[in-house]
Amino acid sequence: MDEFQFINTIKQNYYRQSSVVKGIGDDAAVFRQNTKDIVTAVDTFVEGVHFRKDTMSAYDIGFRALVANISDLAAMGAQPAFYLVSIVFPSHWSPQEVQHIFQGMKAIGRSYNMDLIGGDTVSGNELVLTITVIGYVEKAQARYRHHARAGDIVFVTGTLGDSQAGYHIITNQKKYKDAAYYTERHRRPVPRVDFALGIPRTVRVALNDVSDGIANEAAEIATASDVSMQLFDEAIPVHESFHQFSKSKQYQWKYFGGEDFELIGTVAATNWDILVDTAKRVNLQLTQIGKVFYEPEYNHVYINKGNQQLERLLQKGYNHLK
Ligand code: ADP
Ligand code: MG
Repeated sequence: MDEFQFINTIKQNYYRQSSVVKGIGDDAAVFRQNTKDIVTAVDTFVEGVHFRKDTMSAYDIGFRALVANISDLAAMGAQPAFYLVSIVFPSHWSPQEVQHIFQGMKAIGRSYNMDLIGGDTVSGNELVLTITVIGYVEKAQARYRHHARAGDIVFVTGTLGDSQAGYHIITNQKKYKDAAYYTERHRRPVPRVDFALGIPRTVRVALNDVSDGIANEAAEIATASDVSMQLFDEAIPVHESFHQFSKSKQYQWKYFGGEDFELIGTVAATNWDILVDTAKRVNLQLTQIGKVFYEPEYNHVYINKGNQQLERLLQKGYNHLK
């Protein structure tokens, strides 16, 4: 199969988004938009760094990679619309396996009405997948990290640490309770688009998706908003059987694990009820996990364990350049 035949196999037969003027098949794609703000993000996934053939199927690699991108759109409050995929295709991957990656992306793309409108296909030594997503928000309605204010409630959707627990289960022989639940959370996470889009426009929220663990994501909001935060350790939501893992693993995974693709954010205490309603409507757990406050000179994140003193939470999430 040559490059052109390959591209033909991944091409959609029709486009769902009416704004597509030209999809795959020319030098570049064209879509038309004149009323909304366009939101775009790109993420790169490298074999051996972000995924391995022996712990994930090709289909799940594609599925999860696109989820990670859609999650960034959700964190901006944007409606997903398009994606483009650049792939470095090594000789130890067959065209059929790479097609499975695309099938995984297509499955999740379809559920958000997204169209694959372009990309690039080249050969190289290891599989590298670079996905660009494009979405829309109403003019000036994007949800930014710098939107947090002193007095806000800090919240998080879903439960944390599940993806890391799933990876642990996949890579260990031992038997665990709810193994299927955790591995599913690792392989097929759900981006929280419905929740983000369900928040009424008039409600100010700061949002960030949990790709690197909440310690990191909370710190990003704190820095961008020039505030500090206090998180309540007992309030951090975890799955009911999460306590089966060692105390140190629980701590590591819920604060620094990441890849749960939940949303962390802040909202004024007076609007908390509205957010609770939004979460109910989309059938999603929503938990208050802390408070925002102003601290001269610092933008720190602290954890409060019972009646213990505040302890500063350091950013120990994955950092590629460290
Ligand atoms: P060009 O030489 O102009 O860059 P290509 O031969 O790379 O064009 O690509 C031809 C068409 O196929 C373009 O529309 C491009 O966006 C699309 N395409 C190439 N690779 C991919 C891919 N991996 N995923 C989606 N579309 C792709
Ligand atoms: Mg090209």
